Amino acid sequence: MAATFAGKVALVTGGGSGIGQASALAFAREGAQVVIGDVDDDGGGATVAMIRAAGGDATFIHCDVADIDAAERLVAGGLEAFGRLDCAVNNAGIQGDIAPAAECTKGNWDRTIAVNLSGIWHCMKFEIPHLLKSGSGSIVNVSSNFGLVGSYGMPAYSASKHGIIGLTKTAALEYAKSALRVNAVCPGPVQTPMVDKLLNAQPELADKIIEAIKEKEPVGRWGQAEEIAASVIWLCSDAASFVTGAVLPVDGGYVAQ
Ligand code: NAD
Repeated sequence: MAATFAGKVALVTGGGSGIGQASALAFAREGAQVVIGDVDDDGGGATVAMIRAAGGDATFIHCDVADIDAAERLVAGGLEAFGRLDCAVNNAGIQGDIAPAAECTKGNWDRTIAVNLSGIWHCMKFEIPHLLKSGSGSIVNVSSNFGLVGSYGMPAYSASKHGIIGLTKTAALEYAKSALRVNAVCPGPVQTPMVDKLLNAQPELADKIIEAIKEKEPVGRWGQAEEIAASVIWLCSDAASFVTGAVLPVDGGYVAQ
């Protein structure tokens, strides 16, 4: 059986770690050439090395998605490397500081919105013209369960993730007749380095937080990065050819409560 993405090129932002890395590896396993954009050069390089070690093809381009010029260079660099773009996973994101709305600093607000929301638009702006040329382009934007419900202590994060959903639905409608599908996934809790950072900031509470999150999950466990990657891969594949404008919770039932 032919690999799902043989002859195709996928771009993954934040591909140096966690959900982005799992998605990049999954694309490569299915035959895609992969462009990884990240601020973390070591992480991005490690993902490329893993893909190459498994016989795949990938390239890393340093990119801060909050910088619109860097987003343009990322897409241009991917095109230069592999000549086309079929799938784009706009996944790079930060959690920001934990503090309720009145105590959220302007710096935290601005940076979180710049990376998580503006960063997705920056990438889409330059990806879309090339995805339209591919004949069956697909964008998956990574939101969060906190893009669908509020999250205590994370006003900027939750606002940015809600914003991604509005942007996703709008672009889906705009390009629905142009063979470009635009969808969003809303992951539930996955213990990636992003979450480890939060746990490491309060080591005395880490076990309690891990347990409390597990208890809030209808399935009674945390998710795995590979489970989120599987939904990304499906949404980008022809198996999802009638799916656009969808907002898919991949969260063990969290937002169904
Ligand atoms: P992670 O920290 O493991 O990975 C995020 C990657 O994005 C890192 O490699 C980081 O260097 C990169 N990145 C950060 N800022 C960037 C920037 N400005 N430009 C380019 N790259 C940047 O985190 P993760 O958990 O894999 O998160 C991936 C996405 O999934 C994020 O958008 C996050 O909000 C979302 N998400 C995660 C969870 C979870 O529980 N882990 C839940 C819901 C949604």
